Amino acid sequence: MTTANNSNSHTVNKTQDTPQKTCDKYGLHQSILPSDEGLYGEYGGKIEHPELARAMNEIEVGFRKIIKSDDFINEMQRLRETYVGRPSPIYHARRLSEQGGGAQIYFKREDLNHTGAHKINHCLGEVLLAKKLGKTKVIAETGAGQHGVALATAAALMGLECEIHMGVVDIKKEHPNVSRMKILGANIVPVSQGAGTLKEAVDSAFESYLGQVDSSLFAIGSALGPAPYPEMVSYFQSVVGHEAREQFLATTGKLPNKVVACVGGGSNAIGIFSGFLADECVELVGVEPAGEGLDTPNHAATMSKGVKGAIHGFKCYVLLDENGEPAPVHSIASGLDYPGVGPQHSLLKDKQLASYESVTDAECLDAFMTLSRLEGIIPALESAHAIAYAMKIAKTMSADDSILVNLSGRGDKDIDFVLSKVDL
Ligand SMILES: *Cc1c(COP(=O)(O)O)cnc(C)c1O
Repeated sequence: MTTANNSNSHTVNKTQDTPQKTCDKYGLHQSILPSDEGLYGEYGGKIEHPELARAMNEIEVGFRKIIKSDDFINEMQRLRETYVGRPSPIYHARRLSEQGGGAQIYFKREDLNHTGAHKINHCLGEVLLAKKLGKTKVIAETGAGQHGVALATAAALMGLECEIHMGVVDIKKEHPNVSRMKILGANIVPVSQGAGTLKEAVDSAFESYLGQVDSSLFAIGSALGPAPYPEMVSYFQSVVGHEAREQFLATTGKLPNKVVACVGGGSNAIGIFSGFLADECVELVGVEPAGEGLDTPNHAATMSKGVKGAIHGFKCYVLLDENGEPAPVHSIASGLDYPGVGPQHSLLKDKQLASYESVTDAECLDAFMTLSRLEGIIPALESAHAIAYAMKIAKTMSADDSILVNLSGRGDKDIDFVLSKVDL
């Protein structure tokens, strides 16, 4: 094994230390920290509604204070190790790499976390914060139910009430996750307004929260929304990137040429990117859903096809319909099916600190089956987008090069759907 000081072009060559505002070993690179107005360049921002603004401010002040307390740091550390199962391993996918005939592909195995995805990382943080602020309840929206399950898990663990707003259409579609949330003790509020999906669930959850801001905490499911959520969620997810960088160096003696992650709202991507933002030699790539194709209306490729706009109280790239409203979007991965994206990614794109590519539903299904058959790993359809892109780009690289993919979750939830689409 080589050390971090050999002369390979992909060894660590940064002398400047990552400036961090926080004092535990995880933290956010300055390029993705907000201004006092909660802005990342022109993106993000604070909520204007006076009562919600007061509540958000309490959360922001509480968050920034608590992440500096030994008590909180030690409790998070204990739960990460003994409850989630961190650090998640880095795995060299040898058969997948060989078959591709190019770069070596590695996975950060967030699919091995308790509850099967990366979302538990920020849900634990949000619920622990709620508890330290003296709240008795967490409130959230959920689309496919992944965020709802992770939050209900953390709430059960800490003995807090959990109220999950979910569209009636999604409740029908995502039955196993609804059952999980019920078993975990969550109260599910069905939302029948409008299309009965995620957008209406967000509005309903906010409204309910407004009536009980003093006793509850709103827990957003990705690195988006008004301040302080992008900062808070990406902070809790940054454990993924910091672990990955250390592990990758320790096993290969180098840094990866590329770090690849799927982008829905952007939490798993910002989590793994945050470990590598100070490394100019590492290329960061976010992968969006091209659905049925970027030239059709049926995709959710916010960064590739969106415009600068606003959604749910913050500014970002957004897909709009002809009336200037957030557009109905499509992806076979319901966790990527959102017309907006986190403000940090919007800024990283403009500053060219990360690039954003897209893969279609068909390419995603192909990667899902290939990984299952070659490595015995069934990935989430969301994660399969990142894998599909890695498989494609690996072919253009040499066998000495490497790609690190954030394998954000496991695919148990997707097996029935995939069987209905693939002829076996
Ligand atoms: C929710 C989810 C995503 C998408 O959300 P991000 O905030 O963009 O990470 C990706 N992968 C899995 C497994 C998910 O559950």
